[in-house]
Amino acid sequence: MELACLDLEGVLIPEIWIAFAEKTGIEELKATTRDIPDYDVLMKQRLRILDEHGYGLPDIQEVIETLEPLPGAIEFVNWLRERFQLIILSDTFYEFAQPLMRQLGFPTLFCHKLETDEKGRVVNYHLRQKDPKRQSIFALKTLYYRTIAAGDSYNDTTMLAQADAGILFHAPQNVIEEFPQYPAVHTYEDLKKEFLKASNRDLTL
Ligand SMILES: [Mg+2]
Repeated sequence: MELACLDLEGVLIPEIWIAFAEKTGIEELKATTRDIPDYDVLMKQRLRILDEHGYGLPDIQEVIETLEPLPGAIEFVNWLRERFQLIILSDTFYEFAQPLMRQLGFPTLFCHKLETDEKGRVVNYHLRQKDPKRQSIFALKTLYYRTIAAGDSYNDTTMLAQADAGILFHAPQNVIEEFPQYPAVHTYEDLKKEFLKASNRDLTL
């Protein structure tokens, strides 16, 4: 059997922190691992900023509720699920992804967790495990599933390497150049075609 494993942010939905920063006008929340390479430092800064602006989890989810999946994403997910079992492997948090996952029909999601106190204040975050995307593919292979994975960025490349087939989608030029072994596409129509090519079954558009 074949599984499709997809990254979430940048592939099906916008980058949540960036979109949240734009919606709320909190400029400092636009910082990413490009600005602050230490993820722990970056996350602690994000949680501090949320605190300073008085955003608890329910307020954050209300803002995220106003975001939408990328144009065409819902149709693409439906297309994929008719042909593959789909698992989303993401570095987001369940609590943030929830409103957007609802719009996508709640496909299976493996990601990280936030910790809140009784007032809804986000007090900490918990990573599921180290190198979670690669580890997930590794584990699925022990169940004898063939895996086809697609993602848009550096944090996906170990997943693409571990999978039976890897595809870059919406990737920036520097990632495409650094990983020429993966086909790189920019539209859902082309991504569908890459999934069909990577499949060892006789599937059609
Ligand atoms: Mg991504």
